[in-house]
Amino acid sequence: MAGKPLQLEFVTSAPSVAEVPPSVADVAVVGRSNVGKSSLINALANRRQLAAVSGTPGRTRLINAFRLAEGPEPRPLLVDLPGYGYAKVPKAVKDTWGPMIEGYLTGREQLAMVIVLLDGLVGPTNSDLELLDWLRHEVLPHSVVATKHDKVKSSRRDRRKKDLAAACDLEPRDVLWVSAAKGVNIEILRDRIRSWLVD
Ligand code: GDP
Repeated sequence: MAGKPLQLEFVTSAPSVAEVPPSVADVAVVGRSNVGKSSLINALANRRQLAAVSGTPGRTRLINAFRLAEGPEPRPLLVDLPGYGYAKVPKAVKDTWGPMIEGYLTGREQLAMVIVLLDGLVGPTNSDLELLDWLRHEVLPHSVVATKHDKVKSSRRDRRKKDLAAACDLEPRDVLWVSAAKGVNIEILRDRIRSWLVD
């Protein structure tokens, strides 16, 4: 059935790529804190508290792996990478955290797609644009998804989408704009994730 919820189960919080369990394929989700990443993962799975599991203290700075109950063994993973841009993170933590994300993104052979989340209300931040530049430089497959579609007035959405895309050096059709709160485009994103993971 098209667009049906992704059946995801939390597997583990890993401190480095070496501890992420085997899988046939991974889709990683990355974005700055507060972009709406947990809400989106919950919406994809149609579960209220799934990503809250990984939101328990300590885990938000680790690589959180969720296994999809579909596809060939070892089953695919949706990987929730720690949000960047926490102003309050001490330097010592920042110093390990960049390498942890980078280690995963450059070291995981079965990485099929990186979903880069942007806040659709505020647009891309400098750290979002730096991440996109770096992904392009590393030639890693990535796809931009904007969040919080419902927070922008309908009369302003076309313009906003054009601006979001232009800021990222993309065409509007390259950006999927979703709302976890209202379910906008969630079914489309579920099907894209399925096709990246299973096909
Ligand atoms: P995370 O830090 O990236 O995991 O972000 P959260 O999922 O915790 O969301 C951050 C804030 O944005 C919370 O107050 C959410 O309720 C809100 N939020 C997330 N997604 C949406 C959305 O689609 N629409 C609206 N209106 N608010 C959202």
